[in-house]
Amino acid sequence: HIAQKSAKGYALYELSFDKHTPLRLTLMSELRRAIEKNDLALFYQPKVSIQTNELYGAEALARWNHPTHGFIAPDEFIPMAERTRMIKQLTQWVLKRAFRDCATWHEQGIDIKISVNLSTRDLHDPDLPDLIAGIAAATGIKPEWIILEITESAVMNEPENALAIINRLHDMGYQFSIDDFGTGYSSLAYLKRLPLAELKIDKSFVMDLMNSENDVAIVKAIINLAHNLGLYVTAEGVETNAILEKLKEYNCDIAQGYYLSKPLPVTEFNNWVKKSKAPACPALKSNTLIS
Ligand code: C2E
Ligand code: MG
Ligand code: MG
Ligand code: MG
Repeated sequence: HIAQKSAKGYALYELSFDKHTPLRLTLMSELRRAIEKNDLALFYQPKVSIQTNELYGAEALARWNHPTHGFIAPDEFIPMAERTRMIKQLTQWVLKRAFRDCATWHEQGIDIKISVNLSTRDLHDPDLPDLIAGIAAATGIKPEWIILEITESAVMNEPENALAIINRLHDMGYQFSIDDFGTGYSSLAYLKRLPLAELKIDKSFVMDLMNSENDVAIVKAIINLAHNLGLYVTAEGVETNAILEKLKEYNCDIAQGYYLSKPLPVTEFNNWVKKSKAPACPALKSNTLIS
């Protein structure tokens, strides 16, 4: 039945590439059930403006707490979902949940932008813009509250198709970010054609910033490239105050990382917002906050 689903000739590639071991097949049917039964969770990791200390937004990160295998990391089940086409249902679940949570925060006066990760197959799905429009209408979010994270490699896989979908969503008001910037393969010719708002420096360049001259050079170059293209820059993987201070010195705009906060379930995220020194809106700014 896999062959039947293929309109573009992916099927043979998938059959030879994907290890359809019994465990994998079981996991995939369990993932399908987890999505249907709402057994997945969406965590949120704060993004903080480096120069002002204000909460800028949060990245939505999927979590699967499996009844017998325990916690399965997204790095394991997302690529698997991508290969087995389960990613469409997964992305739909993530978008629904993220937009709903985002609407709730805005109702509460917490003016934050929510980042959602898209995968390669999502960017080649012509239904995606209508799907997103439908979820936006159902939840009452405004497109400008949402940042869609894509990777260089996802765009470079049939770039004209991806560009058409990205441009449609951009015309609807959604913002785009290049995730893990510097690790994928990409072409500056395509980069300049993308309607981007943000570049995210991959954590592999950020985590060792204090010890690596090369990483310093790369991080500074990405910040300059982004600013010269009129984009803002987020550094992911900020684990220490020393790194945060360096990024501030280099004029990086936004930080995300364990030093500020790990990804949190909604209730904990709400608590973090309440007691952090990173107010998200004027109402919260007047409080004297202790963290
Ligand atoms: P990503 O989009 O680059 O997300 C950032 C990852 O870095 C997250 O891992 C986050 O927990 C981790 N991280 C953040 N700060 C730090 C830090 O200071 N130190 C270290 N060591 N790690 C940090 P996570 O949540 O395990 O997600 C891994 C990847 O899985 C994501 O990388 C993203 O590519 C993918 N992913 C997660 N959720 C989704 C989703 O809903 N849809 C899709 N398509 N992909 C997702
Ligand atoms: Mg991301
Ligand atoms: Mg990233
Ligand atoms: Mg990453």
